[in-house]
Amino acid sequence: MKREHLIKPVLGQPYAIIRSGKGVFLYDDQGKTYLDASSGAITAGIGHGVQEVIDAMAEQAGKVSFVYRSQFTSEPAEELAKKLSDLTPGQDYWSFFVNSGSEATETAMKIAIQHWQERGLPSKNKVISRRMSYHGITMGALSMSGHALRRRRFISLLADYPVVEPPYCYRCPLQKTYPTCQIACADDLAAAIQRIGAEHIAAFIAEPIVGAAGGAITPPDDYYKKIKTICELNNILFIADEVMTGIGRTGKMFAMEHYGVEPDLIALGKGMSAGYTPIAATMVKDHVMAPILQGSRSVMSGHTFSANPQSAAVALAVIRYIEGHHLVHAAHTRGSYLIAKLQTMAVGIPIIGDVRGKGLLLAIEFIQDRVSKQLFPPEAAITTRIIDAAFHKGLLMYPAAGAIDGAGDAILVAPPLVITEAEIDLLVQLLEESIRQVMVEITD
Ligand code: PLP
Repeated sequence: MKREHLIKPVLGQPYAIIRSGKGVFLYDDQGKTYLDASSGAITAGIGHGVQEVIDAMAEQAGKVSFVYRSQFTSEPAEELAKKLSDLTPGQDYWSFFVNSGSEATETAMKIAIQHWQERGLPSKNKVISRRMSYHGITMGALSMSGHALRRRRFISLLADYPVVEPPYCYRCPLQKTYPTCQIACADDLAAAIQRIGAEHIAAFIAEPIVGAAGGAITPPDDYYKKIKTICELNNILFIADEVMTGIGRTGKMFAMEHYGVEPDLIALGKGMSAGYTPIAATMVKDHVMAPILQGSRSVMSGHTFSANPQSAAVALAVIRYIEGHHLVHAAHTRGSYLIAKLQTMAVGIPIIGDVRGKGLLLAIEFIQDRVSKQLFPPEAAITTRIIDAAFHKGLLMYPAAGAIDGAGDAILVAPPLVITEAEIDLLVQLLEESIRQVMVEITD
């Protein structure tokens, strides 16, 4: 076998080579076409090969691609920070630019801790997260993640941060039913704060809609209002990890707008540049920055590539494209069309237990039996098989973490926001064929 040099996710496995992309389609070097129903890793929000972004990229490269943030600022970085703030209801956020979602959540954690240090409360240094969560792969971000599979190898190096139960109504971890439960999973946060002591807790972090660690787990409408009240009563900052949900994906610019709650800090990534360049952001509300401005006047973090003008110009072009083409609204309308089609499809497929999500962040959860909601045994590898079957048919799907973390077996359905109704029809047709093929294989 030819010696390889690139470390790919599964070593020794052949990977197709993609040569180009346009809209919701990718094309490999063997002439095969793929309908990208996962936007890569829920990233390519505006689709592939958008000329306006390519032009903005070339224009900025023709001026300057890199300046060091400790020496200079740049027009694109300043404009992007203002733009992100302008997109929020309160328009009172600062932005710290980084290169990945992991860095964005980890920076949020560090700024939250620094906020309390500057206020003379250095013991407030723990961050509470939820079981079935994913906030990133770096050590700080992983310390805040409930993702057992990704934590396992590094557990001894991770900070001892507490986790609380997620609002996973389809398989309620507290065996309750909404609304009679009165959102008991939120009370789990209050109980954890009481147990640990608010004087030790800097922040609570949550994905507005859980992505990779559970499959579009969507809380009841009043969940986040209750969470925010608990945080405020206990002097704890609320970090919304909008790395997957942010910049239009769920049919609002920020998913937290669905719930009428303004987070103290927001982490962004993925759709912010739609994959055209690596850039991510930690957005910080004025009141969180205030003690830092009055104190050390410097956020203790930073990366060489932070706020580079090239990436900032690309992210600005992506956001302008989303606004100019009304793609936030499109995520809502096309999401409604897609979820209705998936629900209709599910009626005739008994191994589908749940179809859920908002906008174009949707998921399908698979079960052996609809009444007992019994999971497939791990060796059935149900989601892997469906994703593989879809791949062969030229349809790209994204797996959620699966049963290891207490979640069910789910796949995400999250195509670019530019998808048309005809392309959605093709997506659902290929997906249905793939699921039915695997259903026949496993029941044979
Ligand atoms: N936060 C959430 C909610 C994510 O879904 C991810 C990635 O999947 C991350 C953080 C980490 O982002 P990145 O892979 O860009 O480091």
